[in-house]
Amino acid sequence: MTAFVPATRRWADLSGPALVEVTSDRSIAVIPIGAIEHHGPHLPLRTDALVAQAVTAAAVERVAAEGIDAWVLPPIEYAKSDEHHWAPGTLWLEGTTLLEQLVEIGRSISLTPVRTVVFVNGHGGNVMLLGWANRELRRRFGLRTFSMPSGLGGAADGTDGRPDERGQGIHAGYVETSVVMHLAPELVAPELPPRNVPEKIAAMRYIGFNRMPVMFGWTSDDFGPTGVIGDPTGANAEDGGRFFETGVDFVSDALREIDRFEFA
Ligand SMILES: [Zn+2]
Repeated sequence: MTAFVPATRRWADLSGPALVEVTSDRSIAVIPIGAIEHHGPHLPLRTDALVAQAVTAAAVERVAAEGIDAWVLPPIEYAKSDEHHWAPGTLWLEGTTLLEQLVEIGRSISLTPVRTVVFVNGHGGNVMLLGWANRELRRRFGLRTFSMPSGLGGAADGTDGRPDERGQGIHAGYVETSVVMHLAPELVAPELPPRNVPEKIAAMRYIGFNRMPVMFGWTSDDFGPTGVIGDPTGANAEDGGRFFETGVDFVSDALREIDRFEFA
Protein backbone atom coordinates (compact mmCIF):
# COMPACT_ATOMS: atom_id res chain seq x y z
CA MET A 1 0.00 0.00 0.00
CA THR A 2 1.39 3.37 -1.00
CA ALA A 3 1.39 5.86 1.85
CA PHE A 4 -0.99 8.79 1.58
CA VAL A 5 0.92 12.08 1.45
CA PRO A 6 -1.12 15.23 2.11
CA ALA A 7 -0.16 18.43 0.25
CA THR A 8 1.52 20.19 3.14
CA ARG A 9 5.08 20.74 4.27
CA ARG A 10 4.29 20.03 7.92
CA TRP A 11 6.08 16.99 9.37
CA ALA A 12 3.31 16.27 11.88
CA ASP A 13 0.60 16.24 9.20
CA LEU A 14 2.13 13.11 7.66
CA SER A 15 1.54 9.56 8.82
CA GLY A 16 4.59 7.70 10.08
CA PRO A 17 4.83 5.47 6.97
CA ALA A 18 4.34 8.50 4.69
CA LEU A 19 7.17 10.31 6.43
CA VAL A 20 9.52 7.38 5.88
CA GLU A 21 8.44 7.14 2.24
CA VAL A 22 8.74 10.81 1.26
CA THR A 23 11.84 11.83 3.20
CA SER A 24 15.47 10.97 2.48
CA ASP A 25 18.97 11.93 3.51
CA ARG A 26 18.42 15.08 1.41
CA SER A 27 15.47 16.18 3.57
CA ILE A 28 15.72 19.10 5.99
CA ALA A 29 13.78 19.20 9.27
CA VAL A 30 13.15 22.83 10.18
CA ILE A 31 12.17 23.55 13.78
CA PRO A 32 10.87 27.02 14.70
CA ILE A 33 11.86 27.94 18.23
CA GLY A 34 10.57 31.01 20.03
CA ALA A 35 9.68 31.94 23.58
CA ILE A 36 6.69 32.77 25.74
CA GLU A 37 8.00 35.80 27.55
CA HIS A 38 7.26 39.34 28.63
CA HIS A 39 7.44 41.72 25.66
CA GLY A 40 6.51 45.01 27.30
CA PRO A 41 2.95 46.17 27.91
CA HIS A 42 2.11 46.26 24.19
CA LEU A 43 3.09 42.91 22.64
CA PRO A 44 1.82 39.37 23.29
CA LEU A 45 3.88 36.94 25.36
CA ARG A 46 4.12 34.68 22.33
CA THR A 47 5.77 37.32 20.11
CA ASP A 48 8.98 35.35 19.47
CA ALA A 49 7.09 32.10 18.87
CA LEU A 50 4.69 33.85 16.47
CA VAL A 51 7.53 35.38 14.47
CA ALA A 52 9.63 32.20 14.31
CA GLN A 53 6.66 30.14 13.12
CA ALA A 54 5.50 32.65 10.52
CA VAL A 55 8.97 33.17 9.04
CA THR A 56 9.69 29.43 9.00
CA ALA A 57 6.40 28.52 7.33
CA ALA A 58 6.85 31.13 4.59
CA ALA A 59 10.50 30.25 3.95
CA VAL A 60 9.89 26.50 3.82
CA GLU A 61 6.99 26.96 1.43
CA ARG A 62 9.22 29.08 -0.82
CA VAL A 63 12.18 26.69 -0.97
CA ALA A 64 10.00 23.60 -1.20
CA ALA A 65 8.48 25.08 -4.36
CA GLU A 66 12.03 25.15 -5.76
CA GLY A 67 12.52 21.45 -5.03
CA ILE A 68 14.31 21.60 -1.68
CA ASP A 69 12.85 18.89 0.55
CA ALA A 70 12.25 20.96 3.69
CA TRP A 71 9.66 20.13 6.35
CA VAL A 72 8.38 22.28 9.21
CA LEU A 73 8.32 20.55 12.58
CA PRO A 74 6.04 21.52 15.47
CA PRO A 75 7.34 24.68 17.15
CA ILE A 76 9.19 24.83 20.43
CA GLU A 77 7.51 27.62 22.36
CA TYR A 78 8.74 27.19 25.94
CA ALA A 79 12.37 28.20 25.86
CA LYS A 80 15.26 29.82 27.71
CA SER A 81 13.74 33.11 28.84
CA ASP A 82 15.49 33.41 32.18
CA GLU A 83 16.29 37.07 31.44
CA HIS A 84 12.54 37.73 31.81
CA HIS A 85 12.11 35.45 34.82
CA TRP A 86 10.85 38.35 36.95
CA ALA A 87 7.88 39.14 34.73
CA PRO A 88 4.58 37.31 35.34
CA GLY A 89 3.39 35.54 32.19
CA THR A 90 6.85 34.44 31.11
CA LEU A 91 6.97 30.63 30.85
CA TRP A 92 10.57 29.50 30.74
CA LEU A 93 12.75 26.42 31.03
CA GLU A 94 16.20 26.09 32.56
CA GLY A 95 18.84 25.96 29.83
CA THR A 96 19.73 22.39 30.72
CA THR A 97 16.07 21.32 30.49
CA LEU A 98 15.71 22.87 27.05
CA LEU A 99 19.00 21.33 25.93
CA GLU A 100 17.72 17.89 26.89
CA GLN A 101 14.48 18.55 24.98
CA LEU A 102 16.41 19.53 21.84
CA VAL A 103 18.67 16.48 22.14
CA GLU A 104 15.71 14.15 22.57
CA ILE A 105 13.88 15.62 19.56
CA GLY A 106 17.06 15.14 17.52
CA ARG A 107 17.35 11.58 18.75
CA SER A 108 13.86 10.85 17.41
CA ILE A 109 14.60 12.54 14.09
CA SER A 110 17.69 10.37 13.74
CA LEU A 111 15.41 7.30 13.52
CA THR A 112 13.96 8.65 10.24
CA PRO A 113 15.73 9.02 6.88
CA VAL A 114 16.20 12.74 7.63
CA ARG A 115 19.80 13.73 8.46
CA THR A 116 19.59 17.53 8.65
CA VAL A 117 18.04 19.59 11.44
CA VAL A 118 17.69 23.38 11.32
CA PHE A 119 16.52 25.61 14.16
CA VAL A 120 14.95 28.93 13.14
CA ASN A 121 15.10 31.02 16.28
CA GLY A 122 12.95 33.99 17.24
CA HIS A 123 14.50 34.59 20.67
CA GLY A 124 17.99 35.91 21.39
CA GLY A 125 18.16 34.09 24.72
CA ASN A 126 18.23 30.73 22.88
CA VAL A 127 21.24 31.50 20.67
CA MET A 128 24.06 30.06 22.75
CA LEU A 129 22.01 27.05 23.76
CA LEU A 130 21.28 26.25 20.11
CA GLY A 131 25.01 26.31 19.39
CA TRP A 132 25.44 23.77 22.18
CA ALA A 133 22.58 21.63 20.86
CA ASN A 134 23.99 21.69 17.32
CA ARG A 135 27.16 19.99 18.50
CA GLU A 136 25.39 17.51 20.77
CA LEU A 137 23.17 16.37 17.89
CA ARG A 138 26.18 16.15 15.59
CA ARG A 139 28.27 14.11 18.01
CA ARG A 140 25.57 11.85 19.42
CA PHE A 141 23.46 11.11 16.33
CA GLY A 142 25.57 12.18 13.35
CA LEU A 143 22.98 14.75 12.26
CA ARG A 144 23.90 17.82 10.26
CA THR A 145 22.73 20.68 12.43
CA PHE A 146 22.25 24.40 11.92
CA SER A 147 20.68 27.27 13.80
CA MET A 148 19.80 30.77 12.62
CA PRO A 149 17.80 33.78 13.72
CA SER A 150 14.46 34.51 12.11
CA GLY A 151 16.34 37.43 10.56
CA LEU A 152 13.93 40.34 10.89
CA GLY A 153 15.08 43.68 9.60
CA GLY A 154 18.32 44.44 7.82
CA ALA A 155 20.56 42.82 10.44
CA ALA A 156 20.01 39.12 10.97
CA ASP A 157 19.77 39.83 14.69
CA GLY A 158 16.98 42.36 14.19
CA THR A 159 18.75 45.28 15.83
CA ASP A 160 18.95 47.87 13.10
CA GLY A 161 15.29 48.66 12.64
CA ARG A 162 15.91 52.34 13.10
CA PRO A 163 19.29 54.02 13.46
CA ASP A 164 18.35 55.90 16.61
CA GLU A 165 17.94 52.63 18.49
CA ARG A 166 21.75 52.61 18.25
CA GLY A 167 21.89 48.83 17.76
CA GLN A 168 20.10 48.30 21.09
CA GLY A 169 16.62 47.49 19.76
CA ILE A 170 16.81 43.91 20.88
CA HIS A 171 13.49 43.38 22.60
CA ALA A 172 10.00 44.70 21.93
CA GLY A 173 11.52 47.63 20.04
CA TYR A 174 10.81 49.04 16.60
CA VAL A 175 11.39 45.88 14.58
CA GLU A 176 9.48 43.40 16.72
CA THR A 177 6.61 45.77 17.36
CA SER A 178 6.25 46.54 13.66
CA VAL A 179 6.39 42.86 12.71
CA VAL A 180 3.67 41.87 15.17
CA MET A 181 1.57 44.77 13.85
CA HIS A 182 2.01 43.17 10.42
CA LEU A 183 1.35 39.55 11.46
CA ALA A 184 -1.28 39.93 14.17
CA PRO A 185 -2.40 43.57 14.58
CA GLU A 186 -5.25 42.48 16.82
CA LEU A 187 -2.69 41.43 19.45
CA VAL A 188 -0.89 44.80 19.72
CA ALA A 189 -2.00 47.32 22.33
CA PRO A 190 -3.18 50.64 20.86
CA GLU A 191 -0.81 52.59 23.10
CA LEU A 192 2.94 51.93 22.72
CA PRO A 193 5.40 52.30 25.61
CA PRO A 194 8.14 54.97 25.45
CA ARG A 195 11.67 54.61 24.16
CA ASN A 196 13.96 52.63 26.46
CA VAL A 197 17.39 52.49 24.82
CA PRO A 198 20.36 51.78 27.17
CA GLU A 199 22.35 54.79 25.96
CA LYS A 200 25.37 54.13 28.20
CA ILE A 201 25.80 50.64 26.76
CA ALA A 202 25.32 51.99 23.24
CA ALA A 203 28.31 54.27 23.86
CA MET A 204 30.62 51.41 24.89
CA ARG A 205 33.30 50.22 22.55
CA TYR A 206 33.51 46.55 23.47
CA ILE A 207 30.61 45.67 25.76
CA GLY A 208 27.21 45.09 24.18
CA PHE A 209 24.39 42.78 23.22
CA ASN A 210 25.13 41.72 19.66
CA ARG A 211 28.22 41.44 17.55
CA MET A 212 30.23 42.96 20.39
CA PRO A 213 33.27 41.16 21.76
CA VAL A 214 32.57 41.56 25.47
CA MET A 215 29.39 39.87 26.68
CA PHE A 216 27.72 40.68 29.97
CA GLY A 217 25.14 39.02 32.17
CA TRP A 218 21.80 40.80 32.38
CA THR A 219 18.12 40.40 33.05
CA SER A 220 15.64 42.63 31.29
CA ASP A 221 14.66 44.50 34.47
CA ASP A 222 18.23 45.83 34.63
CA PHE A 223 17.14 48.36 32.02
CA GLY A 224 13.96 49.61 33.69
CA PRO A 225 10.52 48.37 34.57
CA THR A 226 8.80 48.11 31.15
CA GLY A 227 10.68 45.12 29.75
CA VAL A 228 11.34 47.04 26.53
CA ILE A 229 14.91 47.34 25.23
CA GLY A 230 14.70 49.56 22.19
CA ASP A 231 12.25 52.09 20.89
CA PRO A 232 8.81 51.00 19.66
CA THR A 233 7.77 54.62 19.00
CA GLY A 234 6.28 54.96 15.54
CA ALA A 235 6.27 51.23 14.83
CA ASN A 236 3.88 50.37 11.99
CA ALA A 237 2.59 47.41 10.03
CA GLU A 238 4.03 48.60 6.72
CA ASP A 239 7.60 48.57 8.01
CA GLY A 240 6.71 45.33 9.80
CA GLY A 241 5.84 43.73 6.47
CA ARG A 242 9.19 44.80 5.10
CA PHE A 243 11.10 43.49 8.12
CA PHE A 244 9.17 40.22 7.91
CA GLU A 245 10.09 39.82 4.23
CA THR A 246 13.78 40.35 4.99
CA GLY A 247 13.45 37.50 7.49
CA VAL A 248 11.78 35.21 4.96
CA ASP A 249 14.39 36.12 2.32
CA PHE A 250 17.23 35.46 4.75
CA VAL A 251 15.90 32.11 6.02
CA SER A 252 15.07 30.96 2.47
CA ASP A 253 18.56 31.82 1.28
CA ALA A 254 20.13 30.15 4.31
CA LEU A 255 18.10 26.97 3.63
CA ARG A 256 19.35 26.96 0.02
CA GLU A 257 22.91 27.14 1.33
CA ILE A 258 22.24 24.38 3.88
CA ASP A 259 20.83 22.25 1.06
CA ARG A 260 24.19 22.36 -0.72
CA PHE A 261 26.38 22.36 2.41
CA GLU A 262 29.26 19.91 2.58
CA PHE A 263 31.88 19.50 5.29
CA ALA A 264 34.70 18.82 2.90
ZN1 LIG B 1 11.15 39.00 21.17
